[in-house]
Amino acid sequence: MNSGQKYLRSLLRRKSLDAVLFWSLENIRYLCGFTGSEGVLIYAEEEMIFLSDSRYEEQARDEVRGAVFRKFKKKIEGIARSLRSLGVKRLGFEASALSWESYRALKERLPRINLVPLVGQIALLRARKEPEEVEKIRRAIAIASEAFQDTLPRLKPGVREKTVGDFLEFRMKRRGGESSSFPVIVASGVRAALPHGRASAKGIEKGEMVIIDFGARHEGYHSDETKTVIVGKPESRQRKVYDLVRKAQEGAIRAVRPGESFRRIDNAAREVIDRAGYGKFFGHGTGHGIGLAVHEAPTVSPRGSGVAEEGMVFSIEPGVYIPGWGGVRLEDLVLVTDRGSEVLTYLSKDLKDNILKG
Ligand code: ZN
Ligand code: ZN
Repeated sequence: MNSGQKYLRSLLRRKSLDAVLFWSLENIRYLCGFTGSEGVLIYAEEEMIFLSDSRYEEQARDEVRGAVFRKFKKKIEGIARSLRSLGVKRLGFEASALSWESYRALKERLPRINLVPLVGQIALLRARKEPEEVEKIRRAIAIASEAFQDTLPRLKPGVREKTVGDFLEFRMKRRGGESSSFPVIVASGVRAALPHGRASAKGIEKGEMVIIDFGARHEGYHSDETKTVIVGKPESRQRKVYDLVRKAQEGAIRAVRPGESFRRIDNAAREVIDRAGYGKFFGHGTGHGIGLAVHEAPTVSPRGSGVAEEGMVFSIEPGVYIPGWGGVRLEDLVLVTDRGSEVLTYLSKDLKDNILKG
């Protein structure tokens, strides 16, 4: 039994549930191995039932482990039939994944079942990674890192952001990745002040800082990393802001250990930036969990709840974005170990290693 299944068993008891209905494909893949794009999973203590339509029958028989497969013609009816056969009276469901429409249809068909929305509890299901999951994330990181090295020689004055982004995505596939984790972000010069600046037709110019945020997917697992490079010799303000973000990132990474609260880990980065007078230029949280989804629990932010636990993998990615000037973000993925943390991403974030010849 993996940590996710243990977690679910105790959740069933704590909430006096007979079963949980899983709707999100990531959780379904996590619990029974199905990688297709349509299906639901009913998790009960005694058994798991995976339901899908005829298009996925063969795939389900091939992939699904630990659950019986049942085919449906009409989804809601299929679910209702299985719930009745299990004698479910209290059913937990993923509040963030089940649509209002499906909820209402289910309620109509099963008026006597008590539907219990699961919010925060269910988000933590996949938070602690098994060693095999960490290995997949490591592989995704290696693919992305190699692709990034392949791309660097093309990052020169005059080249368009989009050309750099497209090439990086292509190299991630070439290096064995299933896909890019998300459309690569390439934001140069003043555009680097946009935390999520999609690669545009803008040409990169000498002397500009360029934020590149990228990740690869391997066997469903994602990587996510951000480098900021400078095309040419950095001027003093660029150097200052870069070093500040690096110091903030190092502070947060040092704070990661089992039992430390996500708020304090966030604050370890935030206070460095605040003290330097740049607090208003760091508007987002410090990090997020990663795995089968690019963004998943936990949340490392001033609003984050809970503490780091061994096996969790999340990003540490502070940034400073100054409108009209530009910005810097540095992102690494960390694994919480028994006593502290291990930084999984390995491309250097030191300024000296990120100065490109202009
Ligand atoms: Zn990222
Ligand atoms: Zn990220």
